[in-house]
Amino acid sequence: MKIQIDQAITQALQRHGLRPTRARQLILALIEQDNQHYTPEEMLVRLNAMGERLSIATLYQNLAKLVDKGLLVKFVGLDGEYRYDYNKMPHHHLICKSCGRIVDVLVDQTLDAIEPQLMDADGQKKLPPGWKILQRRVDFIGVCPDCSQHGTDN
Ligand SMILES: [Zn+2]
Ligand SMILES: [Zn+2]
Repeated sequence: MKIQIDQAITQALQRHGLRPTRARQLILALIEQDNQHYTPEEMLVRLNAMGERLSIATLYQNLAKLVDKGLLVKFVGLDGEYRYDYNKMPHHHLICKSCGRIVDVLVDQTLDAIEPQLMDADGQKKLPPGWKILQRRVDFIGVCPDCSQHGTDN
């Protein structure tokens, strides 16, 4: 399989004030084409498998740039590793605890009404003073159809 770099990717880079270099095109095309939330290491493995060469330094440098310009969203996965998301719409993640596959999901609006509460020493719940909530994110942990089929559901 080859990476397809279409016009839309080049235009997206230009719209965000970035030169459409080969590295940037490859990164965006890969994440979009595979529809995955890859770590940098996973990206390198995939790119190599498709005959594309990119150094880890170039990869990290360009990932930072793409996040900075709002083309990718960086988040910490369940495994504690940084992962990159092409979907910039507010959404949540459904994660297979067996294979780690991540699916983008939506939840209904009631999440916007949830206010986090701190536990203080005597177990009383209270609102954390001085904090401002910018975003609410929920991870749903489950088992994907492939993994349930193979009986690896724990
Ligand atoms: Zn799975
Ligand atoms: Zn996502």
